[in-house]
Amino acid sequence: MRFDIMTLFPELVDTVLSSSIIGRARNSGAIEVVLHQIRDYSEDKHRRVDDTPYGGGMGMLMAPGPVYRCYLDVLRQAGEAGRRRVIYMSPQGKLLTQKKVRELAGCESLILLCGHYEGIDCRVIDAICDEELSIGDYVLTGGELPACILVDSVARCVEGVLADESCYLEESVACGMLEYPQYTKPAEFLGKKVPEVLLSGDHAAVKRWRYEQALEKTKRCRPDLL
Ligand code: SAM
Repeated sequence: MRFDIMTLFPELVDTVLSSSIIGRARNSGAIEVVLHQIRDYSEDKHRRVDDTPYGGGMGMLMAPGPVYRCYLDVLRQAGEAGRRRVIYMSPQGKLLTQKKVRELAGCESLILLCGHYEGIDCRVIDAICDEELSIGDYVLTGGELPACILVDSVARCVEGVLADESCYLEESVACGMLEYPQYTKPAEFLGKKVPEVLLSGDHAAVKRWRYEQALEKTKRCRPDLL
């Protein structure tokens, strides 16, 4: 799967997406992440990409021209324009959920647009974006971290990224409940022992215990999921 990310801070995105499982997935070719510097498409002699908002108000807005030219170049580089899905990372978007993540993992490629400052001139968003997605009801300084979160969560569902599909199907939220408590060695830590059932070797009893624990935790912490 290919991710094209349009941003003013490609180095930030690259740093986050170069480590651990996602970094390895990029190296192995299971996913491809291509970063596009919007500033390279500025026609201003000082490479400016922002301007003051019409009607007044605080802060600066990203101008539509550089974003649009960057987008056209992404299409040219990536090919098959008709099959691309363009997402603007925005606090005004619909919430990114695990259901949405699974849906996006079915796409061959995604183009992500990251805003900065006070956001982006709405005309270019309307012209190029299929949808807006938010990672939560709070406001960040830029769309780079939200884009990294989207890539990380979607990439985990792409074949070849995790060792086995059950890794992402059985986790919290993915199966409609929070995950049961997990334990590893040592069998006793800070005076707390691993529950007897997990040492019993009785797979049916372990499965039942995990289900009950997951249900209890979901009722207590996230009853809205049930
Ligand atoms: N003025 C904008 C508004 O009120 O909707 C907020 C702009 S925000 C300071 C700058 C950029 O950060 C946005 O263009 C967006 O790309 C990104 N951003 C901020 N919070 C976000 C969130 N919760 N989810 C996704 N993107 C977010």
